[in-house]
Amino acid sequence: MQQASQATVILGGGFAGLFTALHLSQRKYTHQVILIEQRDRFSFKPLLYELLSGELHSAQVYPRYKELLASSSVTFVQDTVKSIDLEQSRVTLTSSRIFNYRNLVLALGSKTTYFNTPGAAEYAMPFTSGEQAIALRKHLRHRLHQAIQTSDPARRRLLLTVAIIGAGPAGIELACTLADLLPIWYDELGGDAAEIRVVLINRSKEILKGDVNSHLRCTAQRALKGRIIPVDFLFDAAVSKIQADSVEYQQNNKTQILQVGTIAWTAGTTANPLLMNLPVANNRGRLLVTPTLQLPDFPEVFAAGDCAADSDQPQPPTAQVAYQQGIAIAQNIQHQREGKSPIPVEIKMRGTLMKLGLNEGVANLFNKVQIPGQPGHLIREATYLQLLPNAAHNRKITTEWLTDELFQRHRPASYMQLGQTPWLSGVATLAAGVIFATPLVWRAAQPMQFQQNLHWTGVPTLLNQLAPPPQ
Ligand SMILES: Cc1cc2nc3c(=O)[nH]c(=O)nc-3n(C[C@H](O)[C@H](O)[C@H](O)COP(=O)(O)OP(=O)(O)OC[C@H]3O[C@@H](n4cnc5c(N)ncnc54)[C@H](O)[C@@H]3O)c2cc1C
Repeated sequence: MQQASQATVILGGGFAGLFTALHLSQRKYTHQVILIEQRDRFSFKPLLYELLSGELHSAQVYPRYKELLASSSVTFVQDTVKSIDLEQSRVTLTSSRIFNYRNLVLALGSKTTYFNTPGAAEYAMPFTSGEQAIALRKHLRHRLHQAIQTSDPARRRLLLTVAIIGAGPAGIELACTLADLLPIWYDELGGDAAEIRVVLINRSKEILKGDVNSHLRCTAQRALKGRIIPVDFLFDAAVSKIQADSVEYQQNNKTQILQVGTIAWTAGTTANPLLMNLPVANNRGRLLVTPTLQLPDFPEVFAAGDCAADSDQPQPPTAQVAYQQGIAIAQNIQHQREGKSPIPVEIKMRGTLMKLGLNEGVANLFNKVQIPGQPGHLIREATYLQLLPNAAHNRKITTEWLTDELFQRHRPASYMQLGQTPWLSGVATLAAGVIFATPLVWRAAQPMQFQQNLHWTGVPTLLNQLAPPPQ
């Protein structure tokens, strides 16, 4: 069956694919746009910790594509891509549906890898999607309920120990979040929070090794120690086997075993296997693209995000790169259809942001200024909420988040009992929330008026640098 051979087909509805689709729609692109994605919901990955903790809910950071695309002209197809034929300009799905295209966008991201560690795929829980964040939350809650009903201290210790494998940004952010969150949840059940143990296991001696956030190492180390329950480290420890309730690792030439109730895996990603079969060059599994994000031998095909790399200007696999590339691809596809030349893409790196516990974060602006603590947390959330796809969605979520921050709605009473959030930090939250979030909400709601009224202050330019508006 031949469908829509003039169509632009986008594979993968992550940051790169979804933003390409939305921006083509906003540009009044006249050709059909088809977004093919295996899941029914978009995962806003930088805010998955908030989904796990309940600080933000599913509708905010794990929305359905149907809702996100409701007011657009994009056709959404929920299915899994089985094969891609670049020579024939054809994509086949597992349902056997076939799509022919005039332009193709490859935005299939990467996949979790367990490095062939025995038992890892069966017993370790990955943390890369909304579905997985919700599964981890349910599992942790279940473990706490089991622990409160257990009188055997050794069994309780096992149930209350969480191992996080991999001390990259996701491992650290998850460890910091759980080391604040689990004591609160367990305290609410009447348990002794001091019995909880969160252990970060890493193959190398350094955290954040080789990552864009590596210069935040000292701040992250301080944060890991400063949680309600300080995070334990097991470094220079190579995980060799995983079972339902234990992690085996090699350290100092000895085999050691840690008894655990939960194992979260954040240790690595690998290329999407579909893309490795394509007759094009790649660098460590990332497709090599031109500065205009086209495949050199197939100029009608664009690739972006975690699955692509421009060898002249390599970019880290991050959301902030992927969404900017999505916007640029939309522009280049339209240029191509209008007979104009595609434009080389310029990515603006605005620094990095990390969550370092409930109500704590660090914003590293332009890799020059580090803002830690509660202000860092507010900048991080305000920046990400501003990036939520689709203006209507964004305005609603930002308003909800602002209300929550101001009234501290999502903070359980036991958080106060555990000595957190004194009144002064509540006032600081209020002040910082108003300072950072108000202009963002105003700009999202009335961009022209915002620009005209505040032009003289330089605030619009600053905000455009820190958190560019969805176009
Ligand atoms: C926990 C976590 C926290 C993160 N925090 C940050 C952060 O703070 N800042 C930051 O900049 N980056 C962060 N990242 C990285 C960032 O999320 C990724 O770089 C970004 O999502 C890459 O976007 P993408 O569109 O290339 O791929 P993805 O977002 O992975 O999207 C790929 C899409 O393709 C779909 N897909 C794959 N195979 C198929 C198939 N065969 N058929 C159909 N669909 C398919 C997938 O379901 C997925 O929706 C984080 C990542 C994680 C996991």
